[in-house]
Amino acid sequence: MELYELGIKAAQEGLAKGEFTSTDLVNSIIARYRDRNAAVGAYVTFDEEQALALAAENPKSVPIAIKDLINVRGQPCTCGSKILLGYRSTYDATVVRNLKANGFIPCGRVNMDEFAMGSSTENSALCVTRNPYDLERVPGGSSGGSAAAVGGDMCIAALGTDTGGSIRQPASFCNCVGVKPSYGRVSRYGVTAFASSLDQVGPMTKSVEDSAILLKALAGHDEMDGTTPKDPVPDYAAGLEGASLKGVRLGLPKEYFEVKGIDSEVRRITEESVKKCEAAGAELVEVSLPHTEHAMAVYYIVAPAEASANLARFDGVRYGHRSAAAKDVYSLYAKSRAEGFGPEVKRRIIIGTFVLSSGYQDAYYTKALKVRTLIKRDFDEAFKKCDALLTPCAPTPAFRLGEVQDPLTMYLNDLFTIPASLAGICAASVPAGFTREGGLPVGVQFICDGFREDRLLKVCKAFEEVAR
Ligand code: GLN
Repeated sequence: MELYELGIKAAQEGLAKGEFTSTDLVNSIIARYRDRNAAVGAYVTFDEEQALALAAENPKSVPIAIKDLINVRGQPCTCGSKILLGYRSTYDATVVRNLKANGFIPCGRVNMDEFAMGSSTENSALCVTRNPYDLERVPGGSSGGSAAAVGGDMCIAALGTDTGGSIRQPASFCNCVGVKPSYGRVSRYGVTAFASSLDQVGPMTKSVEDSAILLKALAGHDEMDGTTPKDPVPDYAAGLEGASLKGVRLGLPKEYFEVKGIDSEVRRITEESVKKCEAAGAELVEVSLPHTEHAMAVYYIVAPAEASANLARFDGVRYGHRSAAAKDVYSLYAKSRAEGFGPEVKRRIIIGTFVLSSGYQDAYYTKALKVRTLIKRDFDEAFKKCDALLTPCAPTPAFRLGEVQDPLTMYLNDLFTIPASLAGICAASVPAGFTREGGLPVGVQFICDGFREDRLLKVCKAFEEVAR
C-alpha cells in the first residue's frame, strides 16, 4: 500500500507509531500528483516546496488538500476564476489555522467551479477536472477537485465548501464521504464568500471516521465569524464508538422519493440502502417536507442575491485582474469584471442584482426569505418524528463532460441537497454502491437537525458498515 492511499485515521496511527513522517506522506502525495494530475486535473496549484517545509516543521501532521477558495497565507487563491489570477493570500483562513493547530497541514490547492457556482467543476476557468472512476465524466461540483483528489487517492483528505450541495454531490460522484456542517459550526473567516447565509466548509474524506476527526479540528467558535456559537464541539470520533442503527428512527421524506427525474440506478441503490438500514434495526418513518418543491426557486433567488453583493469587491482595483483597456474608473470596474468573470458568475450577478432591485425586492427576495422559513419549519416538524433523514444525494451518477449544457438542468443536480442548506442544518453524503453498468459510485444523503453532527456522523458510520 502506498502512503497516498491512506485516510486520516491510518495516517495518524502510522505517524504516532513512527512508521513514517509527514515528509514521507507529502512526498508520496507529490509523486502521485506528478503521476496522475495531468489525467485527473484535481489540483490547480501544488506548492511542493511549501508543503515539504510545513511537513518538516510538523513531522507528525497529516496533509490536507484545500479547495481553491480558502485562503492559505502566501498561496494563490483563485476561486477557479480568471479574475483572481495573480492574487496571493495575505493570511490564513480560520479553518487553516485550526488545521495547523490540530495536527494537519495544507497541501495543494484543488479545483472548483468558479466562485463555487456549479455542479460539475466545468465552470472552472483554470483546468478540466475528471472523475477518477471514469475520466470521460465530471467529478461533480463545485468541490470537484476535492472529490477527485479524495476519490482518486491523490490526497489523504480534502476540505470542500457547500452552499447548496457542493460537498455532498461531488462526494456522491467520486465515492467519498462529504459532510456539510450546520450553518455556524465552522468559521467562514478567510473563505471567499459566495452566499453568506449558506456557505459552510466541511470535510471530504475516505471514511466517516476521517470526517469526524477532521470536522472536530475545523469546528468551533471564531471571534472573526459572528455566526459561530461558543458551544463546545463534541469529540465526534469518540462518539462513533459502537455506532448502530438499532432503534434509530430514520425518516424518509416522501417528496424526495416522488421526484420523477431520478436515475433508475440511483433509485435502486437508495432503496437498497433503506432496506439495509431497516435490516440493521432502524425504524423507518415516512415524513413529509411539503415545501420541498419551492427549495430550488428559493435558493436561486437567495444565493445569487448574496453572490451579487459578495462579488462586488472584485472590481479591478483591490484584487487580481485589472483591465488594461480601461480609460476611467467606471470602465476599469466594468471591463475588469467583464474580462475576469465567466458566464455562470455573470448570470448569477445579473439574477442577484435583479431580485434585489427596488420594485422587485419584495416580490422575489423578501418572498424567498419567507418560504425559506417554511422550509426550515418542515424540517423542525420532521425531526419531532425521526432522528435522521435518509434521501437520495444527487438525482444521477456522474454525467459526461459537456453533457449538461443547459444551466437549469445543471441546477437540478442539487434538488436533494439544497433544502438542508436553506434550513442551515447538517447533512452528509456516504458511499452507498455502484451502478451496474459502468461501475459509477452513488452516495446517499443523511440529514440531521442543526448542530447534531454527533448524531449525523454516528448514523453515517453505522450505515457505512452495513453498506459495504
Ligand atoms: N450547484 C449549486 C450552485 O451552483 C451549489 C453550489 C455550492 O454548493 N457551492 O449554486
